[in-house]
Amino acid sequence: MLKLKEKLNKKVVIIGAGLAGIESAMYLSRKGVQVYLYESKRIERTPAQKTNNFAELVCTNSLKSKDPNSAHGILKSEMRALGSLVLEVATEVAVPAGNALSVDRELFGKKITDIIESNPMIKVIHEIATDPVELKEKHEADFVIVASGPLTLKPLESWIVNYVSNDDLYFYDAIAPIVDVDSLDLSKCYFKNRYEEAEDNADYLNVPLNEDEYLDFVDELVGAEIVPPQNFEDPKFFESCLPIDVMAKRGVDTLRFSCMKPVGLEHEGKTPHAVIQLRKENLIGSAYNMVGFQNRLKYSEQVRIFQKLPGFKEASFNHLGSVHRNTYLHSARILEKDFSLKKNSHIYFAGQISGVEGYTESAAIGLYVAHQIMRRYEGLTPSIWPCELAIGALVNYVMTSPKPRPSNINFGLLPKVDLNKEQRRNKRRKIIKKELASKRAQEKLSQFREEINL
Ligand SMILES: Cc1cc2nc3c(=O)[nH]c(=O)nc-3n(C[C@H](O)[C@H](O)[C@H](O)COP(=O)(O)OP(=O)(O)OC[C@H]3O[C@@H](n4cnc5c(N)ncnc54)[C@H](O)[C@@H]3O)c2cc1C
Repeated sequence: MLKLKEKLNKKVVIIGAGLAGIESAMYLSRKGVQVYLYESKRIERTPAQKTNNFAELVCTNSLKSKDPNSAHGILKSEMRALGSLVLEVATEVAVPAGNALSVDRELFGKKITDIIESNPMIKVIHEIATDPVELKEKHEADFVIVASGPLTLKPLESWIVNYVSNDDLYFYDAIAPIVDVDSLDLSKCYFKNRYEEAEDNADYLNVPLNEDEYLDFVDELVGAEIVPPQNFEDPKFFESCLPIDVMAKRGVDTLRFSCMKPVGLEHEGKTPHAVIQLRKENLIGSAYNMVGFQNRLKYSEQVRIFQKLPGFKEASFNHLGSVHRNTYLHSARILEKDFSLKKNSHIYFAGQISGVEGYTESAAIGLYVAHQIMRRYEGLTPSIWPCELAIGALVNYVMTSPKPRPSNINFGLLPKVDLNKEQRRNKRRKIIKKELASKRAQEKLSQFREEINL
């Protein structure tokens, strides 16, 4: 009886029902913590939001690779060990996407919202949060997790600036266009996954461009009218999510070596000069995402230029590309390794705002922070995640990066894998390296789980 009373006394306020916030909420509620979850979108949406659902995927519907030998695969194993709700629901509503875990975004958001709203340990409060310290006092909570994401609404952003840091808290990120497949001339396109045989039920639809078509397209992009940044915004782009207009200006071949890369996409016995890849947006396959085509062009310019592409003459777009401000902290200076504030150890930050980038990475940090809070409740010191693990590598990156720059999980963040002489000579050495890093992570994870009783 006493134990139950103690459990009911544990209270945490979470700001933001996004990828990170709902993971923290679910983790803590499963451990008997009463959660007060603040979410603003039913009062005011951010420029990227389109629904009232929690954990909204605002751009692509992909949660990246499922391959256990990829960095994202390693991250997913760790998230599963922490009981990830995001992965649980994503697996239920997955759409075919080769080795990637892509979801029907509408179903994904709806299911997560239902699960959170029907959880008796989570009280959802539809309000714009302003001051985490005041909310902690109001609910007599032990801790607050700020998981308000890359588009944190103004009053809270101002609180962060005043209470925590005067530094700039933003850079740019971008959204790719989505096209209605029925409006395309499919005789100009072909279905094929990269490095696989062409087949009608492949996940990717490809649009091949010959050299002239490609050069015309690059010319158009370079000369296109772009949406000027707001006067409060200073364009600092995330290198792995560059708008195509910025890439086109970097050099005539830049796009051909990035999102329009033709390798592994041979068609009719030849490798096209460049290829645009389209990926299914929903289970029924009525809409396709133009992969990597985030851009800053005015909407009218996007329609004009894209309709010149092969098969796109009559193209109609479900939505067009755009760029947005993106809020994040210089965490290495202001947070402890468990992502609590140095200045006030009862306030934690989680998700993209803490300095990671991506849906799964944000969700993983939501789990990480909730796990650290539970350790505190149990009177334990913060757990130090080994860098061989994806979560450990992300935390290490965020806490040691001299300049704040949100990062996805990638093998570059994990410690190097040493190959023996024979392996170094092997043509498959890159794959071998990944396999070894993944095996090392699996072993570390089971050892670490035992150590921290996870
Ligand atoms: C435009 C854009 C496109 C992106 N595209 C991708 C992509 O394609 N793939 C990818 O992996 N990552 C993408 N990201 C990166 C990012 O990882 C995701 O946005 C991810 O959703 C971040 O998760 P989060 O939980 O930190 O924040 P979010 O998922 O944004 O959740 C934050 C929540 O907090 C709420 N909130 C904000 N302020 C307040 C307040 N004051 N009070 C109460 N609630 C508040 C918001 O409404 C939101 O629901 C994109 C980011 C942006 C900005």
